[in-house]
Amino acid sequence: MRIDVLGVGFDNVTMDEAVERGMVLLQSQGTHYVVTPNPEIVEVCREDPEAKAAVNGADLVLPDGIGIVKGAAMLGTPLKEKTPGIEFAAHLMEKMAGEGKSLYLLGAKPGIAEQAAKHLADQYPGLAVAGTHDGYFKEDGPVVEAIRRSGADVVFVCLGAPKQEKWMAKNGAATGARLLCGLGGSLDVFAGVVERAPKFWSDHGLEWFYRLCREPKRIGRMMKLPLFLVHVKQEKRKK
Ligand code: UDP
Repeated sequence: MRIDVLGVGFDNVTMDEAVERGMVLLQSQGTHYVVTPNPEIVEVCREDPEAKAAVNGADLVLPDGIGIVKGAAMLGTPLKEKTPGIEFAAHLMEKMAGEGKSLYLLGAKPGIAEQAAKHLADQYPGLAVAGTHDGYFKEDGPVVEAIRRSGADVVFVCLGAPKQEKWMAKNGAATGARLLCGLGGSLDVFAGVVERAPKFWSDHGLEWFYRLCREPKRIGRMMKLPLFLVHVKQEKRKK
């Protein structure tokens, strides 16, 4: 059973369990998708039923950061740990490389996915990158067809939230891939264009603050964080 945080159901798994579940999905018939919501996305889901359906319709819903883990604990239904999407992706690629599985990278500005592909191929010998496409396209059809033709087992869909979640819910099956993962700005990090917060900051639950200092224009989006906490407190009182 999933753990409900303001209407979004999270899978209560450790990182190891999440990766194991990802590998099982990747080896099962049909198409599956993984989402990694943070408090901002939970707030978006409260306002956008299509986003909420896409997120809750995923085969694996992982808490991207400490905010969700804190929220779940405040509601009296703790989650085992945070399972950031980018770390989940790194572990998955390690396993995929060992099994010769192929990966398609979709998203980010033109040129970024190719750059990420080069870095990832070096970092994970054995990982086959089946193709790349930037995230600024007008029609889904040709992109879906390109992924299908590539024969990729896994697709990293990095279009930002909630666009990527809706895209996977709508187009996932038609790509023919076994597993799609919505991973926000991860391609920018894999390409080396954006740095992740150093371990100290993420260990102390302050990755969001680090990002805010680096990219002050995120302030509008980050105002959803205090709103999330207010809503969690209201929900707790109701319980
Ligand atoms: N993006 C995209 N297509 C769009 C809008 C955004 O490919 O139409 C990309 C954008 O270039 C960036 C990523 O989606 O690489 C979103 O990054 P952000 O840092 O906002 O995501 P987060 O990790 O915070 O969810």
